[in-house]
Amino acid sequence: MKQLNAGERWLSDPRVGPCTRTQKRKVPMAHIIAISNQKGGVGKTTTAINLAACLSEQGCRTLLIDLDPQGNATSGLGLDKRSADKSIYDVLCSEHPLSEVIRPTETVGLSVAPSNTDLVGAEIELTSAIAREHRLVDALAALTVPFDYVIIDCPPSLGLLTLNALTAADTVLIPLQAEYFALEGLGELTRTIQLIQRRLNPKLDYEGVLLTMYDTRNRLCREVATDVRRHFGERVFETTIPRNVRLGESPSFGLPIVAYDPSAKGARAYRNLATELLERHAPRVRRNRTA
Ligand code: ATP
Ligand code: MG
Repeated sequence: MKQLNAGERWLSDPRVGPCTRTQKRKVPMAHIIAISNQKGGVGKTTTAINLAACLSEQGCRTLLIDLDPQGNATSGLGLDKRSADKSIYDVLCSEHPLSEVIRPTETVGLSVAPSNTDLVGAEIELTSAIAREHRLVDALAALTVPFDYVIIDCPPSLGLLTLNALTAADTVLIPLQAEYFALEGLGELTRTIQLIQRRLNPKLDYEGVLLTMYDTRNRLCREVATDVRRHFGERVFETTIPRNVRLGESPSFGLPIVAYDPSAKGARAYRNLATELLERHAPRVRRNRTA
């Protein structure tokens, strides 16, 4: 019998509810991007923090939802994980209003819904909950604070937290580290995305695949990039993120790269990524600005 991954196991449960994704959002304009890859350490959080900061820098009101119990996006934006009174855990498990959890950051226009280790318990606590994969979509639907972009940093798994993110998202951005096993496990992710599209969120689309920690001088990196582009075609962002020490350092100062070292090549790369993404979304963003 075919081995099911965590996401597939959840989705094969007959109790999985009908799609509420089309439920009317109080703030209909926000575009929701889940940053997901069940592989660990591929640059999901680095991308979530820095893409969110660069979108804010370009004038977009942006909310970063930290959906990883590690809380790296929370601390990487300068928030103390332990001091937050309420976190995304309370939103998912106690249906606490999302707007009461959101905190401002040092970056103008960028807010964060923090996470901490409490979230480890969410997967277990939600197991028997009604509409357990809709908790985030419902919280976002009730959000009264206007945002242009919501970025969700997913954990490195395809469990219930990632399912909540993919059910709530308009698009999924997949960071891929340009290394030998880059494509390994992507089949599982694309299968999960297809299942979500079929059962929970028919509108879910690909935002794109992003090559991270990319080194143009490394032959293996270039070969992996060619493979990935052959496989995913135009879904791969033209922008690649180079390996950059400053990108690795900035979270320990609680700052996105554009604030920590605006001239670093990592800062330029994430600015380019935000520009590329905004250009693709240009008609929608223009509509929002005039709304
Ligand atoms: P996890 O699966 O554990 O959540 P992740 O996919 O979120 O990991 P990150 O935390 O963003 O991955 O990155 C993993 C490590 O690599 C971190 O120490 C980060 O600072 C570093 N890193 C990420 N991108 C780069 C880069 N372009 N250049 C240098 N270091 C990087
Ligand atoms: Mg992470």
